[in-house]
Amino acid sequence: MDEERDNRWSGVAIITGASSGIGEAIARNLAPSAKGLVIAARRDARLNTLASELGDHVIPVKCDVQVQSDVTTLATTALEHFGAIDALVNNAGIARMASMLRCRVEDWDAIIDTNIKGVLYGIAAVLPQMLEQKTGNIINISSESARRIFLGAGVYCASKHAVRALSEGLQQDLSIRSRKDGNTIKVSTIAPGVVMTEFAESVTHEPTKLNLVRGMQSVDEPLSAKNIAECVQFVLESPAHVEVGEMTVRPVKQNM
Ligand code: NDP
Repeated sequence: MDEERDNRWSGVAIITGASSGIGEAIARNLAPSAKGLVIAARRDARLNTLASELGDHVIPVKCDVQVQSDVTTLATTALEHFGAIDALVNNAGIARMASMLRCRVEDWDAIIDTNIKGVLYGIAAVLPQMLEQKTGNIINISSESARRIFLGAGVYCASKHAVRALSEGLQQDLSIRSRKDGNTIKVSTIAPGVVMTEFAESVTHEPTKLNLVRGMQSVDEPLSAKNIAECVQFVLESPAHVEVGEMTVRPVKQNM
């Protein structure tokens, strides 16, 4: 038992979107062995409750990932409290889908600002410290829709395609640099299929929300948020020389 605990990841992580669903599950899964966690989202009451449940080494920070200074604060908080940033899990994301024919530009902006720019702000916040450390893990939660286009979800799918592309781009830049400085910073994307969370709640076009909820509920034995949290743990606990690039995880019986 003790040996098992010794082998568990014990670093410092920042997790965005930790007030519900996958982000919350990641925090719950990492907390028992982590040196420190900074958990972030807009609903700070939920974060505070989660942090007090998980322990003093879990710091809740109210953060809107659309605001760069909010995201930068996550890195400074991790450094002030724990002196390092070993991992960033860029998980915050919204669904706000609707047919593109509706030209819901506000939804488009929100998706791009959260799902793409939020991820980039996260990367910018932690990279200087990771480059100095020459180590670190950046894990971006993308989606199956990083490779497929689902009907009525064009802009959401585009945002997740972007997450995959920018992750690969960053990985390439880091590996070129590692020839000079020997850094072992890893970049991974985890691309889930249907996971039962509050994901559909962020959709503001009611008929689309209903369709999405129905679609998700039609999947027999969907993934749980914990399933994805365990993938994050697998990535973090991989041997130092092993970088998980992209991990697609879907319910066996998913038919959408
Ligand atoms: P949830 O809606 O349960 O969680 C989304 C999280 O993102 C919440 O904690 C929310 O917190 C946070 N968030 C949203 N907008 C912002 C913002 N502007 N600033 C900070 N935090 C924000 O859904 P999931 O757990 O399912 O989603 C997590 C990730 O998984 C997303 O990137 C999603 O695209 C991806 N995903 C989900 C799938 C699924 O089937 N559930 C499938 C594939 C990918 P708050 O509202 O408090 O700010």
